[in-house]
Amino acid sequence: KIAKADAKHQEIHSRKRKKNSEERKVSNEIFDKLTLETLYKIANQGYIDVLNGAISTGKEANVLIGVNNDGNFVAVKIYRIATSDFKKMNYYLNGDPRFNVKTKNKRKIIYSWVTKEYKNLKRLHDAGVNVPEPYTSANNVLLIEFIGDENGNPAQPVRNKKPEDPDEFFNKLLVELKKFVNDAKLVHGDLSNYNILNKNETPVIIDVSQSVVLDNPISKELLERDINTLVNEYTRLGVKTNFDEVWEYVNPK
Ligand code: ADP
Ligand code: MN
Repeated sequence: KIAKADAKHQEIHSRKRKKNSEERKVSNEIFDKLTLETLYKIANQGYIDVLNGAISTGKEANVLIGVNNDGNFVAVKIYRIATSDFKKMNYYLNGDPRFNVKTKNKRKIIYSWVTKEYKNLKRLHDAGVNVPEPYTSANNVLLIEFIGDENGNPAQPVRNKKPEDPDEFFNKLLVELKKFVNDAKLVHGDLSNYNILNKNETPVIIDVSQSVVLDNPISKELLERDINTLVNEYTRLGVKTNFDEVWEYVNPK
């Protein structure tokens, strides 16, 4: 497995060598020594057999498709130490009774951040919210259920794949949001059609690293912001809705 991952790494690097220096820099940022070691560790535990191409290249994280030992696709989210927003991370980590991050060590902050995303996903999945099932996390790498079809085509964010029936889709989304807040007792904090995948007209909520527990003093403000964003986006898609109606439905009693 290590040999395979290493060969893949070499292949990525030989391909990148032909490209411009900016891309080379990005590749080095993703596959730095510690990240490679972390991937080998996860590979040795049987969670990944092969790493395939990238689904998404974000500012802070890259999402790749992998294949596990059973031949199933998995999503591999790799946080980039070099370009992460530590101020933001500290803001969302403070006030969360599950984390006590007093360190200024950037690597440690990222590792807490990844653990937070893993724990949030676990809590949401256990509460029956439609999110990717988390498999494992180590250091800056998070391994989760691949949301897509059996050929490895990832489900698209609603931003890129409009629901065929926005009203029906929005209703399904509200059911998920209610479970999110009332059962998992979390607030997403960055909820928008960028972080909702449209999998065969069913919403799957992703990207929960910044999600906070209801006990966090910032949770109410974040929930208001999330609901405002959704109401704006779905109004634009033709859904008749408003803030009060959604707030009333999802707000924990
Ligand atoms: P960020 O926005 O911080 O870069 P996300 O978790 O939102 O990270 O993931 C970025 C993109 O990767 C998503 O918009 C989606 O297209 C894709 N993606 C993320 N998780 C999965 C998954 N489990 N299955 C399929 N695609 C995913
Ligand atoms: Mn996102």
